[in-house]
Amino acid sequence: MSRFFSAKYKSLMPYVPGEQPRDRKYLKLNANESPFPPSPRAVEYASEASNLLNLYPDPDCTGLTTRIAELCDVAPEEVLVAGGSAAILNLAFMAFCDRYHPAAFPEVTCGLYRVLAELNGVPFKEIPLEEDFTIRAEEYMALGRTLFIANPNDPTGLAMPIPDLEGIVRRTPDNVVVIDEAYVGFGATSCLPLIHRYGNLLVTRTFSKSWSLAGARLGFCVGNPDLIEDLRRVKDSINLCSIDRVTMAAGLGALSDVEYTTNNCRLIRESRRFAADGLALLGFDLTDSVANFLLARHPRVDGRALYLKLREKGVLVRHFDHPALAQYNRITVGSLEDMQQLLKVLKEILGEDE
Ligand SMILES: *Cc1c(COP(=O)(O)O)cnc(C)c1O
Repeated sequence: MSRFFSAKYKSLMPYVPGEQPRDRKYLKLNANESPFPPSPRAVEYASEASNLLNLYPDPDCTGLTTRIAELCDVAPEEVLVAGGSAAILNLAFMAFCDRYHPAAFPEVTCGLYRVLAELNGVPFKEIPLEEDFTIRAEEYMALGRTLFIANPNDPTGLAMPIPDLEGIVRRTPDNVVVIDEAYVGFGATSCLPLIHRYGNLLVTRTFSKSWSLAGARLGFCVGNPDLIEDLRRVKDSINLCSIDRVTMAAGLGALSDVEYTTNNCRLIRESRRFAADGLALLGFDLTDSVANFLLARHPRVDGRALYLKLREKGVLVRHFDHPALAQYNRITVGSLEDMQQLLKVLKEILGEDE
């Protein structure tokens, strides 16, 4: 830290993403990326767009916004696109939170929320989960806070029933409720249809997980046109999260090939079932995840020790230091072959312990 660093940032604890190591080749199950390459259409559109990189991109992202609106069955004024849903979440903290609109989110959730609250100087409350990691809707009602809820939640993979989410939105009339649907494509129900009934609901989505475009950095949100307008004002004032041409084209290419993504999501659900059954047979406890990852603990092996052993054997999973998660690891669901490899290595590790 230099002596010039602003006092307001001195205590920041930056977000730590899943590692992207280069020291050797790993079976990478630590960042919830897709095991499948982007759609060939995404690659084709992106490479064509790269011929025009001498020109600035469309600041309004018109083509992609229109296409996303069609896909979500909403109007283009109800959509905002930005560089990853992390950027959208940051805009939401900037636009909808302050001293008078403090934030609240589950205590066990995506680590980004806390970092963004701190970055923006927003007071926040972390609400404990039940023992089994379920989120109790009643605890989020009438809080007078801007809410951030990942559904399905990360890293538990658990989804809330839509009536519970609707109850929260209805009972939070003076604050925005942000529902982060990064993982909704893998089997949960979306609350998108609710945006026309509630002017305070904002739904965020990403191309990073189900759409196989984590490397492109592309996300969007859907909500009432007034909310979208607020976010756009902030976005255009910092002008940091505009989308580049290549990413925009990759997104359009992916959206021209929805079937490819739908099919990959089906494959991931099959792999998830296979991996969950295999892990249960090996004695692991699992949450009932509807996302592209599993949260697993073994009664005989410490969570962090298992993470390190897997790493040694070339398999990367995600371990979190949070006390409630210390015995667990979050394992991204990859292809069927990835999951066979994972189970094989786990069998070796558990065997060594006998
Ligand atoms: C991956 C993830 C994001 C961020 O996605 P990007 O679009 O890659 O920035 C947001 N929320 C949750 C819960 C995630 O797991």
